[in-house]
Amino acid sequence: MDCIFCKIIAGQIPSDIVYTDDKVIAFRDISPISPVHLLIIPREHITSLNDITEHQTPLVGHLVQVAKQLAKQQGIATKGYRVVINCGPQGGQVVQHLHLHLLGGRELSGALG
Ligand code: 5GP
Ligand code: ZN
Repeated sequence: MDCIFCKIIAGQIPSDIVYTDDKVIAFRDISPISPVHLLIIPREHITSLNDITEHQTPLVGHLVQVAKQLAKQQGIATKGYRVVINCGPQGGQVVQHLHLHLLGGRELSGALG
């Protein structure tokens, strides 16, 4: 499959991986918009939030748990951070593999853009 994130999971494209388990990996965004900018993705290829099925609800919960743990590990949990899922063209989704952005390490504007 021609998916950048599936290739990162398979090790075919190098990335700065900060977390891995049997269901999820997390790595640094290649063009970060904040001092901490991680992408947290399921190993399973899911195209977008629109494609989450009922039985994948626990996986989404796990992605959020990993985001929380990584915020702590990256030292941004107390000051605060933002978790974003872009979905579809008007939502700003560029890579068609479900991912959470974990953003922090600077003051983020109140508006979402
Ligand atoms: P989206 O706009 O789809 O929500 O976010 C996709 C993100 O993936 C962007 O922030 C972009 O910088 C990041 N990205 C795209 N290609 C690569 C890559 O090959 N490696 C890494 N580490 N990040 C990527
Ligand atoms: Zn994929």
